[in-house]
Amino acid sequence: PFDVLVVGGGPAGATAAIYAARKGIRTGIVAERFGGQILDTLGIENFISVKYTEGPKLAASLEEHVKHYNVDIMNLQRVQRLEKKDLIEVELENGAVLKSKTVIIATGARWRNLGVPGESEFKNKGVAYCPHCDGPLFEGKHVAVIGGGNSGVEAAIDLAGIAKHVTVLEFAPELKADAVLQDRLYSLPNVTVIKNAQTKEIAGTDKVNGITYIDRATGKEHHIELQGVFVQIGLVPNTEWLDGVVERNRFGEIIVDKRGATNVPGVFAAGDCTDSAYKQIIISMGSGATAALGAFDYLIRN
Ligand code: FAD
Repeated sequence: PFDVLVVGGGPAGATAAIYAARKGIRTGIVAERFGGQILDTLGIENFISVKYTEGPKLAASLEEHVKHYNVDIMNLQRVQRLEKKDLIEVELENGAVLKSKTVIIATGARWRNLGVPGESEFKNKGVAYCPHCDGPLFEGKHVAVIGGGNSGVEAAIDLAGIAKHVTVLEFAPELKADAVLQDRLYSLPNVTVIKNAQTKEIAGTDKVNGITYIDRATGKEHHIELQGVFVQIGLVPNTEWLDGVVERNRFGEIIVDKRGATNVPGVFAAGDCTDSAYKQIIISMGSGATAALGAFDYLIRN
């Protein structure tokens, strides 16, 4: 059996594997897609100490760093079940069962997509999901934020300080964000809020140049010329497979303590799949390190 088995090969999982392997214990990592979300990311400017890099390049360095250690890498394998027996058993979709004394879950998350024409076509060409990451690319431009929940309104407030103008499009008749965020939003001079707006299409040529929505109250179609669209309709953790096994919050995020431990002894979690307040590469790496050290601590005590 493994001492530490990491599930997930993004920044959190790769970091956890390296920290575990450096303790000289038997370490494995199983990932559906080694690299994780950064494979879908173009420019990265907030991975501190590296002024600029690109997602696929960072993913390749992650893999190279992991391979420098004695880690059993099982890529292109999806895990579908976890069960705590004497050891912890992790079952792959192909039916194979891996056994380990501790497991670190680092299966990340996915942004909920709008599913309208133009969205996938213009990803990284004006369509963005992370204001902390891509906000500065839209300095002085007009952007839309789709979604009027807490994350949408926070994004709009954040972007209003960078962009020339921000238009918030909310599907429902009212914004759902906390009142204090809404007050702050409405106090900003360069923000317009449109409710009852159903996004129909994101338009562009080589880059985004506009958005079309339907006013659900009147049925009329409207077009706005702009350069960026931030989709903020939810970040979904990849934790469905842990139903009834590991404790999660109402968003589906795994609840961890300050050592990365879950409610199941020997099972730790890190990165975007947990209830960490913010989801970023550098934060995922920090929590991956924490979970590996937590797992090592657990091993020497049990
Ligand atoms: P992930 O990167 O999501 O990795 C999860 C891993 O688990 C993957 O290997 C996946 O294949 C695997 N996995 C999932 N389910 C299973 C399963 N059932 N079985 C086996 N393996 C599984 N952050 C920044 O700091 N700066 C940026 O500039 C930035 N830009 C971004 C741009 C985009 C378009 C996106 C989508 C995100 C961006 N982020 C950015 C956020 C950042 O990518 C994430 O915070 C970070 O990747 C989270 O790392 P993670 O390891 O927790 O999860």
